[in-house]
Amino acid sequence: MTDVVVVGAGIVGASVAYHAARLGAAVTIVDRALPGAGATAESFGWIGASERVPGPGGPLHAIATREYRRLAAELPAVRVYWKGSLLWGGRHTVDDLEPGRHLVDAEQAAALEPNLRTPPKQAVHIPGDGAVDPLATTDALVGAARERGVRLVAGTAVTGLRTVRGRVVGVETTGGLLGADSVVLANGADVPVLCAALGAAVPVGPSPAILLRLTGPPDLVRTIVATPDMDVRAARDGEFVAAVRYTGETSAAELARSAERVRDRIADLFRGGEDVRLMSARVGIRPMPTDGHPLIGPFPAARGAYLAVMHSGITLAPVAGRLVAEELVHGIEAPELQGCRPG
Ligand SMILES: Cc1cc2nc3c(=O)[nH]c(=O)nc-3n(C[C@H](O)[C@H](O)[C@H](O)COP(=O)(O)OP(=O)(O)OC[C@H]3O[C@@H](n4cnc5c(N)ncnc54)[C@H](O)[C@@H]3O)c2cc1C
Repeated sequence: MTDVVVVGAGIVGASVAYHAARLGAAVTIVDRALPGAGATAESFGWIGASERVPGPGGPLHAIATREYRRLAAELPAVRVYWKGSLLWGGRHTVDDLEPGRHLVDAEQAAALEPNLRTPPKQAVHIPGDGAVDPLATTDALVGAARERGVRLVAGTAVTGLRTVRGRVVGVETTGGLLGADSVVLANGADVPVLCAALGAAVPVGPSPAILLRLTGPPDLVRTIVATPDMDVRAARDGEFVAAVRYTGETSAAELARSAERVRDRIADLFRGGEDVRLMSARVGIRPMPTDGHPLIGPFPAARGAYLAVMHSGITLAPVAGRLVAEELVHGIEAPELQGCRPG
């Protein structure tokens, strides 16, 4: 049996742990806090359907929604809301529409989002897009992993990797040494910290973004609506989430200003939007590989260590978790991961 330690119980680590256990590995997952406490907790939860993401991550994105359907069929607690998205404005090009994306006019946009005050003259509709509650999905993965024997060690930080003659034999933690044949570094924006201790730089940086949770009239927003300055979607009944760009300030005053702007924007966009109330505004730290593409594969600086770090981790968690597990447990190298190798 393979002994795998997964560092980080965000959605990516939880998915790796679940899929590895499903293949029969003995897995321990260690998190310095609770499952989902990192970027995952503050994520917008959009599952993007795209067959044509350019670059090394493209093959993973191309099968991401199919993998969500597979996972939701395996684990009923993974609930995906396949309501599609409606995008307009500068961020979204309409020149080269890939399959599964449709150009819609104002009338069609209004049919999709009846509460829009002024429907855009032209927008892109992606019916295949979905959304999840990132924390609930992580909990579902961790729960299913534990049912398959995975040990969760929460509230315990990994402080370093123990190596013998260049090979990882476990992780040092605030609770002592945990032995392992393989160690998966899925600790998000903190992956470079553990790698630096091995003398290796990993091109991943922290990328803050703001998530707002709001309440308001049910059915105010039906799809995922993405405008140039904000993404918004319904969460559970009468609750919404909105994601906006981080402006560089961390103060409470800056967050309050962002929240104010989002509320005004929702009121401008939607009839009934003036009744939306803010519940919380928080900054989430996204793990952002420098070139924007996932870093997945054996870590060249130490045999037995494996990196699994990516932006769009909500979209990619099911596919990445399955492929990483197949590599670790069965040694099956996934062609979809070839462009993502840390080397
Ligand atoms: C506002 C916002 C909106 C977003 N919207 C989307 C979206 O719509 N779609 C999408 O696909 N992605 C989105 N993302 C990005 C997505 O949330 C992340 O890519 C994803 O959550 C990363 O998951 P992860 O498991 O790799 O990292 P994390 O969720 O950060 O998990 C890392 C875990 O490692 C633990 N940890 C760290 N260091 C240690 C250590 N030394 N020892 C033990 N444990 C450790 C942390 O406690 C944490 O639980 C968004 C992010 C933000 C902030």
